[in-house]
Amino acid sequence: MKTERQEIICNCCKKIIQKKSRIPDTEFLHVEKEWGYFSEKDGEIQEFDVCETCYDEWVKSFQIPVKTIEVTELV
Ligand SMILES: [Zn+2]
Repeated sequence: MKTERQEIICNCCKKIIQKKSRIPDTEFLHVEKEWGYFSEKDGEIQEFDVCETCYDEWVKSFQIPVKTIEVTELV
């Protein structure tokens, strides 16, 4: 389901991550989760976008730090 590029706003801080119909040049976290039978949100799809600043703050609150893998880019 690919529609026209929509404006992307950070759910956390309301900052505009990506302006409408612009070439994407900003990295952000997009989460889409379809909750299933074993959850209390059975049959619901939830999605949100988080800008990099909020992502960093969020991740800092984790008890276990995120796993970081260095990607060697082959250009
Ligand atoms: Zn944000």
